[in-house]
This record gives sequence, structure tokens and C-alpha cells, in this order.
Amino acid sequence: MSINIRIIETGSIRVRPSLITQPPGNVLLRRLKFLSDRQWTDPIPIYAFLITHPEGNFLFDLGETPKCIQKGYFPWWQVGQYCVSMDIKPDQGLGSQLRAQGIDPEVDIRAAIVSHLHSDHAGGLPDIYGKADVFVSQSHWDAFQKPFYATMEGANPSAWPEGFAPSILKPDGPAIGPWKFSYPITKDGKILAVDTPGHVPGHVSLIIIDDDVTYLLVGDAAYSLELLDKEMVDGINSDPYVALESQKMIKEFCSQRPVVVLPSHEYDSVRRLEAKEVYQPSKP
Ligand SMILES: [Zn+2]
Repeated sequence: MSINIRIIETGSIRVRPSLITQPPGNVLLRRLKFLSDRQWTDPIPIYAFLITHPEGNFLFDLGETPKCIQKGYFPWWQVGQYCVSMDIKPDQGLGSQLRAQGIDPEVDIRAAIVSHLHSDHAGGLPDIYGKADVFVSQSHWDAFQKPFYATMEGANPSAWPEGFAPSILKPDGPAIGPWKFSYPITKDGKILAVDTPGHVPGHVSLIIIDDDVTYLLVGDAAYSLELLDKEMVDGINSDPYVALESQKMIKEFCSQRPVVVLPSHEYDSVRRLEAKEVYQPSKP
């Protein structure tokens, strides 16, 4: 049995163009520009990933929940909710979609690795928490365990399972590519997480080493392959310069071996996964 990756679309989202990308600069000014932006992008997908490996089923990110379109799901003072437009059907939550594929989310998931706890990456937490280990990085949890900060930054702790405390990724894996260490996920060394901070503190990406190619699930470290290649960081992150460094490291990794890069919010990820399309970075 080899490794298999399946993309699960948990609805789509329309955002402001200034959320997608802005030149690096002052974080407050970038966010003010986002809050005053009146334009909309086309819808972009919200993906979770199911990875089937000989050691079990793993999830990378948990997508959004259908509950997010109910009034009062987010605290009223969470301003970001008014600048996005969600589209998610009642059967598009992670749990429903896993069950539809014959996978019991309460039994058949070995572990979930969450790139970061933004609402659209952690919406499926209630579907699996308490049954499977849910991992985030230490630095991410250090920042996002503070409910007010996490909410203002785009997470929704009010919807987390009661007493939610994630497992913490252990930084005792080998160096890989430009990363000096990794977070091992499987014992055979084929699945590991690496640091790609900047979008938020402690954001991680997932490396999956298959026989012929390597997959890199970048979460929100890049919203699309084109933006990655042009080193255009997202528009309202907490540290654009750190985000830029992460993008450079991802590109360096991809210049060292054949890598299929799968962002969480790009429809083309589906085709690219199917075609095993390898990304060749252009020179910066
Ligand atoms: Zn995010």
C-alpha cells in the first residue's frame, strides 16, 4: 500500500483582493487597507486533505464548518467576518464528507495536523477532536491559546470543543531541504511537517514523500502557485517579511527535488494533484 492524497472541499470563500496579496510593509496599514477594501475576489476553495498511509489515515487541516454561515457563529466583534463571504452546503463539513467516503471520523483517523487554527482550517475540529490527536506547533499554540488574540486574528475559539488543547508537534525530525529540523508524523519518515511561519506565528506545512514525487501542502503560506512563484505574500498576515522568507524556503525546497505544491485555497490544486504536476520555481 502506498500513500494516497485526497482533497476535500469544504465550501468556498470570497474575500477582498487586499487579503490575497499586498506588498510587505506595516501590518496595521495593510490591515486597514483590507478593512476598507470594497471589492470581492472570485470564490476560492477551502480544502482539507486526507492522506492515506500504511500507518493510518492522516488529515492536514480540517476545513470550514457549515455552521459558519449561521448568525452568531462568530462573536459579533470579530471584524474579519464582515469582509469575507462564505458558501458552504450542510453536507460539506469535514465529518459528513469523510463519512460519505466510508471513513468514520471518530474511529478511522490516526492524527490531524493543522497548519494553523484560522476558522477555515479548524472548522472541522468538533468532528474529530477527542478521537484523534490534533497537532499544531508550539509557537502557534503559544499565540492562539489566547482567545481574544486568536479571535481577532481570524480563529474562532468560541466554536472549539470545550477544553480544547491540541497535541504539540515535536521538533525532533531530520533536516530536510532548507529546513534545519522537521516534525515527524509517521515512523517511516515519509510524512513530516516543517515551519512556514509568517501568515500566522507557528504556521506549518506538510511534506509527503512518495516513491516518485514529493508533495508539499503549504496551507496558507501561499494562496496560489503563481503568488508563490512571484513571492507575493498574503495581504493581512502577522509578519509579511517572515512570510516572504517562508516562501523563499518553499521555493528552495522545490528547486532541490521534484515537488507537487498544493495550496489550500487554489482550485488548480485538484488538477495538479491528479496530474502530479511538478513545480519548477523561476529564479527570484
Ligand atoms: Zn489562514
